[in-house]
Amino acid sequence: MHQPQTTPRRSIYYQYKVHPPYLPATPGEVQRADVVVVGAGPVGLATALEMARFGVRCLVLESELQVSEGSRAIVFTRRSMEILQQAGVADRIVAAGLHWRFGNSFFRGERVFRLEAPHDEDDRFQPLTNLQQQYLEEFLVDAVAAQPAIELRWGNRVTAIEPHDEGVRLTVDTPAGPYTLEAGWAVAADGARSPIRSLLGLKLEGDSYEGRFVIADIRIRLELPTERLAFFDPPWNPGNTVLMHREPGDIWRIDFQLPAGETPEQALQPESLKARIDAQLKMIGVADPQWEMDWCSVYSARAMTLPSYVHGRLCFTGDAAHMLPIFGVRGANTGWQDGQNLAWKLAFVQRGWAPPSLLDSYSHERVTAAREIIEEAGRSTRFMTPPTAGYRLLRDATLSLALRQDFARPLLHWRTSRAHDYLDSPLNSADDDNPLFAGGPVTGAPLRNVRLEDGSFLFDHLQAAFHLLVFVEGDTLPAGVPEQLQQLRLSGVPWRVLAVRSRGQGDVPSADLTLPDHNGRIRQRCAAPAAGAAYLVRPDQHVCARWLQLTPQRLQEAAEKALSVDRNRTQPT
Ligand SMILES: Cc1cc2nc3c(=O)[nH]c(=O)nc-3n(C[C@H](O)[C@H](O)[C@H](O)COP(=O)(O)OP(=O)(O)OC[C@H]3O[C@@H](n4cnc5c(N)ncnc54)[C@H](O)[C@@H]3O)c2cc1C
Repeated sequence: MHQPQTTPRRSIYYQYKVHPPYLPATPGEVQRADVVVVGAGPVGLATALEMARFGVRCLVLESELQVSEGSRAIVFTRRSMEILQQAGVADRIVAAGLHWRFGNSFFRGERVFRLEAPHDEDDRFQPLTNLQQQYLEEFLVDAVAAQPAIELRWGNRVTAIEPHDEGVRLTVDTPAGPYTLEAGWAVAADGARSPIRSLLGLKLEGDSYEGRFVIADIRIRLELPTERLAFFDPPWNPGNTVLMHREPGDIWRIDFQLPAGETPEQALQPESLKARIDAQLKMIGVADPQWEMDWCSVYSARAMTLPSYVHGRLCFTGDAAHMLPIFGVRGANTGWQDGQNLAWKLAFVQRGWAPPSLLDSYSHERVTAAREIIEEAGRSTRFMTPPTAGYRLLRDATLSLALRQDFARPLLHWRTSRAHDYLDSPLNSADDDNPLFAGGPVTGAPLRNVRLEDGSFLFDHLQAAFHLLVFVEGDTLPAGVPEQLQQLRLSGVPWRVLAVRSRGQGDVPSADLTLPDHNGRIRQRCAAPAAGAAYLVRPDQHVCARWLQLTPQRLQEAAEKALSVDRNRTQPT
């Protein structure tokens, strides 16, 4: 019988709430569900919230009775905030978090590089926001509680899983004994150690890195701005690397690399932790360090992915699908992009709006993204923790050069998590006008946010639907387009038309929303040269077609492509 921890986890800044477990009325009973999400981590919760926006009923099973232990993921990117805005939690994160855009890298005590993340008035969110993962999960749990389409069952652990042609059979253990769930679809969001992955014997491809880091959260008041600090080869930890991040509530994350050969047990000895943290604090000018430990752990980077995220009616997402180095804030930030990509596709398939083959594009797009990240993250991880003497020599030479030479400084900039452009997506229209645009988001890339004339932002007006962004001068959409949209809506697929109006006043008939653009800002961001141009935007905000002149025929073809509909086959439900 599953016995989750019933005492609150220990923390000096976060009060853990222990939720009551869900207990089956009759142990051994068989229950049914449309979609089951296994794991109420940041990715499982956000995926369930996104599916619920399309009217899909989800059951979320969580083995524990409380949110995650320790701060874990603490840095969230602007793209994540845009995704979390859809999940309804962005405002709470903005209010609770610390926002930043600068980073400093030091080599042997001297600053070698200052990172400045771009930010302008069209961005609703700051480039980076620091907040401990427990708060973020709490906000998502609250949002789930307010969403009637989702049931979250605490203390329910999946112990066996059997995908079959019509669905997935799960055995769920609880403090009152097990029960069986027959689900139409299942999402494995059960984290890096994914028991579901192991139960099915699925293997990850990729590498593990040898360098080990201690991750420690301490409480100390430091009069320093919220900026990322990276120290290469600091005098107290020669040859190794140290990172510092500020978290809300006077909590500081200090990550320091361990000398080769030191075990995690040795590194986590209280006297060893104290000596090293004191040394780091003294190095940055704290004469008499007084601090309190909240949580610490040992971490070593992995860069691995499943080669496919869809296995019949079971889909993997987040850390269950891949393990990526946390350097460059790639943990939860990558997982939300997976979840956002999966959620609308699974919802469309489950609602009968698209064939199951739509899910192949989820695996294609996100495995490609994971492989790109593995390539990039490999470079930054090798920079942080050089695996051989040769890599160390090269790294130190670059750092030394950067002390004196401007040209070498950008070499020190490792890429942080970013949105991926699905350039070779099977959902992209092959014969749109993408190459003819002189700028703007390319087909496959996420749309860009824009500050509108009334002070709101374009993304504030995007809903759970496909959006057709049409540029008009007066008050008419291109001929035949409203009728074509009526046709497309017959299948149940949610479509919305946003008319971007550059002249005149009032609403454009047949558009769901008219966005005045007298100052030309939206047109400029989209590089839309003239009236009649249009963007087709998927529910995850990625562009799947753009045209200089929209016609009903082109819209019809793009819609079929974006929904993976093969005209020559009858559409399965
Ligand atoms: C020590 C540590 C430090 C980290 N630091 C950073 C960082 O600084 N920056 C960063 O970006 N990322 C960091 N990460 C990674 C980040 O925490 C993860 O990327 C993120 O939590 C992934 O979310 P997820 O929802 O995919 O998985 P998880 O958060 O792992 O959630 C999985 C959930 O599934 C549940 N579960 C597991 N098995 C079962 C089962 N059989 N039945 C039911 N439920 C189950 C678990 O209890 C858990 O709640 C860190 C991770 C760790 C472990």
